Amino acid sequence: MTATAPFYETKTLAQMTRSEWESLCDGCGRCCTLLLEDEDGAVWRTSLACRLLDLKTVRCGDYANRHARVPGCVKLTPDTVGQLGWMPDTCAYRLIAEGKPLPQWHPLRTGDTGSVIAAGISVKGELISEALVDEDDQEDYITGRVL
Ligand code: SF4
Ligand code: SF4
Repeated sequence: MTATAPFYETKTLAQMTRSEWESLCDGCGRCCTLLLEDEDGAVWRTSLACRLLDLKTVRCGDYANRHARVPGCVKLTPDTVGQLGWMPDTCAYRLIAEGKPLPQWHPLRTGDTGSVIAAGISVKGELISEALVDEDDQEDYITGRVL
């Protein structure tokens, strides 16, 4: 008997069901890191987390209402994901959009949501909330350039 290939190897992002789409997120929290854009258009990553990110679970604290509560929270769609150059190169949506396989540590491969942490991909333990930092001081938390 031939094993059926998993959906993430056979479907495009646009072909996935809602639950398949949601399961692609590995929960790394990297896209919830505060990015700063300077006057020249350069984008910088910081060690600050979106104020809605639960730093213990590394999950959004209000996923259903995230776009209403955080206007800068990106709306990922099959059409937009390939255009978001700042998305982490480990992000499953970006990988699938680029025709690449999911990494071996992805929870859909391991069956373990903790594998993203074990692989050192998660931001768990690396960030502090932007809510604790004055907006004028955010530049002090820059860790590197993204774009
Ligand atoms: S970077 Fe991608 S995989 Fe990681 S939390 Fe964000 S959407 Fe999910
Ligand atoms: S609103 Fe939620 S999903 Fe959006 S960036 Fe903030 S923590 Fe992440």
